[in-house]
Formats: sequence, C-alpha cells, structure tokens
Amino acid sequence: MSKNIVVIPGDGIGTEITTVAQEILAIAAKKAGLNLNFSVVAAGGAALDLVGEPLPAATVAAAKAADAVLLGAVGGPKWDAVEPKLRPEQAILGLRKALGLYANLRPIRVFDTLVDYSPLKPEKIKGVDILIVRELNGGIYYGEKGQEGDRAWDVENYSVPEVQRIVRIACEAAKLRRGKVTSVDKANVLFTSRLWRKTAGEVAAEFDGITLDHMYVDNCAMQMVLAPQNFDVIVTGNLFGDILSDEAAVLTGSIGMLPSASLGDGTGLYEPIHGSAPDIAGQGIANPVGTILSAAMLLRHSLAADGAAATIEKAVEDVLVEGYRCADLYKAGMTKVSTEEMGKLIAAKI
Ligand code: NAD
Repeated sequence: MSKNIVVIPGDGIGTEITTVAQEILAIAAKKAGLNLNFSVVAAGGAALDLVGEPLPAATVAAAKAADAVLLGAVGGPKWDAVEPKLRPEQAILGLRKALGLYANLRPIRVFDTLVDYSPLKPEKIKGVDILIVRELNGGIYYGEKGQEGDRAWDVENYSVPEVQRIVRIACEAAKLRRGKVTSVDKANVLFTSRLWRKTAGEVAAEFDGITLDHMYVDNCAMQMVLAPQNFDVIVTGNLFGDILSDEAAVLTGSIGMLPSASLGDGTGLYEPIHGSAPDIAGQGIANPVGTILSAAMLLRHSLAADGAAATIEKAVEDVLVEGYRCADLYKAGMTKVSTEEMGKLIAAKI
C-alpha cells in the first residue's frame, strides 16, 4: 500500500529534525509493508522568504491532499519585525484551520532512564504516562471578543457536538491505553463546563470498559504535580488544555523529547511540541526524538500502523537506555551524539 506524506521542515532546527524523522518514518513503514511517498513543502519564515507569505496556497493544497503532515517548527528572530498577519506562526494557525484540526493529542511519557531529568522526585515521576487531549478549535480562543474603552471581553462558547467529538477521541485513545478518562472543567462556576461535564458523561457511557471521572481544572493543575502517575487520558477544552499540557510537558524535564498530533476529519498534523530553537539551529545538535515520536504518532493515528509506531517507540527507548544523549540531555557518563547520529542509532534498532 502506498501513502502520501507531506513534510514541512519550517525554520531553525526544523530541517535538521524532520530530515532524520522522515528517514525513520520511511524505514519503519517499509518494515510494516507500507510505501510512503514524501513531498517536502515550505511554510513559516522559509515560505515568507521564498514567496512572500507564511502559508502558500500550494502548501495548503498539498497538506489537504496528503494522508498526513509531518511538521518541524516555524518562526525565529529573523521574522520578529514582520507585520502580525505575515508572521511565520500564522502558518500553524492557518494549517489547523484549513485541515479542520479540532483535537490536539500530547502524550507525556517519562522513560525510566530519564526520571532524573524531571523537576519532581524520581519516585513521583517514574512510570508517568499521560495523554492530554485538548479541544483545539473552539472555546474562549474562538468566541466573540472585543474591547470598548476600559472593558474587554472574550466569550467561552461550546456546543454539544463540539464536546462529543473531542470526548469520543479521548475515549477511543483510552481504549488503547489503561481505559481511564479524566474530564477537566470548572463546572462549579462555568455554564460551558456544566454542558461539557454532562456531555462527557453521555459520550463515555457509549464506551465499554472506559471509566470517566471529572476534575476541576484548579485541582487538576495541583494533582499533576502531586500525583501524576494517577492520570491516564485527560480531556479538556482549549484554554485549560493549553495550560495543562505545558505544565505536564515540564514534568519530563526535556522539551526536545515530546511529540504531538493534531487530528480532525481529514489529514492529521504531527509535530514536536517545541519551537524552532534558533539558538541552536544549524549546529547539528538538536534533539530529534520529539519529531521521531511524532512520526510514530503519524503511523498510529493516520496510517493505522500501530505495530510500526510501537517499533519506533521501543527503538527510542532502547537507544536512551544504552546511554546515548543529544546535547540537551547530556550528563557525564553518557555518550553525547549529534542529531544525525541519534537518528542513525534509532534507525539501526528498527
Ligand atoms: P523553543 O522551543 O524553540 O526553544 C526553547 C529552548 O528549548 C531553547 O533553548 C532551545 O534551544 C531548546 N530546544 C527546543 N527544542 C529543542 C530540541 N529539539 N533539542 C534541543 N533543544 C531544544 O521556544 P522559543 O525559543 O520560545 O521559540 C523559538 C521560535 O519558535 C519562536 O519564533 C517561536 O514563535 C517559535 N515556536 C514555534 C512553534 C511551532 O512551530 N509549533 C512552537 C513554539 C515556538
């Protein structure tokens, strides 16, 4: 079977990390009997330099027609002074909109061999494996907004179908994990949260073997650092998800390691959670693992190649256990490797 993958390297370390991840994606897919056709297209600052806009129509068309998109990162100081609507970051918002991506999935998994990198004590962090499912296309970020004189407003707004589809994604994901979904809201104060809570309960009841509990967002922020091992899947709205997913990310102590997926009704978009890291761009030292694990998510969610995804994840873990580290995670006693070397080590395991 043949599938079409669009790769958008973007800016800064983007080219370095996507080159490595693309190679690993191709190897793992081939082993699973999948033939991938790759096309590399521009977005972000690179596209702005090339054609004068951060998200060219040709890039959108290629992404829409593809089976999945793998993205590096966009942005950098070179484009800090451009007018807001031409900023490289607009490419991400534009792609999310064009592809109708309404669910952002961020797995927060702490490899045993990296427990010492967390700001939490090793016994608190060991075994943490959380999937945050954030609604990406609604809520207060997209509600009515404005300012009159010394008053400003942003309206939080959710409909039942919007909540249903995101909770369904969370329940489907939980079926492949430990079967526990925590729906996070502020139902003691907000009408939208009360609608969210009721709808989440109805959707979860459609799923056998899923347990759903509800948690207020303030308590969730606290539990995330007190007892992160208790969470399996967390599902929440756009604003709460934005904040909680960054809080959860720091638990691992390594921004270069974390992948993400954004899903909708069509093409899925896969990218590491970090930015374009202009401070280390061009040096060949960026950690490619977040992008490689994003490629694993691409196989799982867009190509239904669960086995190939697991092969990549196991290869990453094995290489880490053997003590290989990129510069961001290097400590005495470990073997320091470049972006490319890390890719080769992981590819060899696959
Ligand atoms: P950043 O994530 O790029 O970098 C933060 C720090 O983490 C830097 O010190 C960087 O060197 C380090 N880092 C990040 N990824 C790494 C990796 N793979 N390996 C090793 N170290 C890594 O965040 P920033 O500096 O705030 O933003 C830089 C640019 O990226 C800005 O233009 C910002 O707008 C953009 N950005 C883009 C995205 C995206 O494309 N989705 C996301 C966040 C930020």
